[in-house]
Amino acid sequence: MKIAMLKEAAGETRCAAIPETVRKFAALGAEVAIERGAGTDASIPDAEFEAAGASLGSRADVLKGAGIILAINGPDAASLKGAESGALLVGGLDPLRQRQAVDAYAKAGLEALAMEWMPRITRAQSMDILSSQSNLGGYKAVVDGAAAYGRAFPMMMTAAGTVSPAKVFVMGVGVAGLQAIATAKRLGAQVSATDVRSATKEQIQSLGAKPIFVENVAGIEGEGAGGYATEMSEEYQKAQAELVSSHIAKQDIVITTALIPGRPAPRLISDAQLATMRPGSVIVDLAAEAGGNVEGTLSGERVVKHGVTIIGASNLARSLAADASALFARNLYNFLSAFWDKEQGRPLLPDDDEIVKAIRLTKDGKVVSERLTAA
Ligand code: NAD
Repeated sequence: MKIAMLKEAAGETRCAAIPETVRKFAALGAEVAIERGAGTDASIPDAEFEAAGASLGSRADVLKGAGIILAINGPDAASLKGAESGALLVGGLDPLRQRQAVDAYAKAGLEALAMEWMPRITRAQSMDILSSQSNLGGYKAVVDGAAAYGRAFPMMMTAAGTVSPAKVFVMGVGVAGLQAIATAKRLGAQVSATDVRSATKEQIQSLGAKPIFVENVAGIEGEGAGGYATEMSEEYQKAQAELVSSHIAKQDIVITTALIPGRPAPRLISDAQLATMRPGSVIVDLAAEAGGNVEGTLSGERVVKHGVTIIGASNLARSLAADASALFARNLYNFLSAFWDKEQGRPLLPDDDEIVKAIRLTKDGKVVSERLTAA
């Protein structure tokens, strides 16, 4: 089995294999071919891939006869000629927004597997690219927020007086939010956090932060469906807005991460609420790409409103390319190795497997994902 890892398009810093996964694939009996320069932006020189046993070449060289193609983002189908018929294309394929590309993969005879649709079951945890990348995003949001903040995070007692600790409020306590809380705590901030899922209350407390929750209207009991939140009732939204209004004016840094799958991000901070914050405060909006949790957020940009800097964070994992690549590459390896058939020397993907059903987009020339065909 030949596995190809392609150089990503301009703007993407990560790569879908690292020397460690090259060695692990070799131990399964596969050979890995890497497009020259694919790891450069993630600080992995070609020589390190070669030392791990990979062969290096042009895109055409690495694709020739490949049965598996690893990618961070979905490549242009026209650039994938030469792979085996029925080759697996495995990566973050963004199926809803890249629907035309999915059709093109089907036409090209590729079996496209969208890793972001990995189900949230225990068996799939180590294969979950959304978790691995959000974790790094949550960390980087705090680091970027701290860099934009004109004051210090920890309390400092100096001969010239005391510096008070920064107050950090994390809104949305999923994978990114939990890491943001942990990072802000490590930097010495006073941290509070909120979510609609009641299960997060204990998680917030266990990280030493203060939970700030709507008490008079019920939120989502436990984890919610598959760990995800849904849109809240008008009554809840009103109660939440009141809660935020009373809390936010006292905060220095706000990290928002609230997402609802398949819907625009919920609006959690209005312009009027923003205006109550102290000038010099910083908001990092991790939901910027999904429309933003904050009124006035612009994805990929930094704007100042009422003296508050709003950072519209987009794909922060890209700015930690080496770690993000390592985690992503392991997610891909964990998935493929879990289905590896030693005798046939390739992964076998049973039609009735929960993971396969969730992530398989195309097969035998057709789009087969129910999420796409029903849309
Ligand atoms: P996400 O990125 O979809 O959303 C981020 C957070 O925003 C969530 O906690 C959500 O409840 C919250 N949110 C949504 N609307 C909100 C609102 N109006 N106000 C405040 N908060 C709001 O979530 P995620 O990071 O992907 O993780 C969600 C859960 O899934 C977590 O409990 C996580 O541990 C779990 N999970 C499980 C697995 C697995 O078992 N394989 C994998 C990944 C995540």
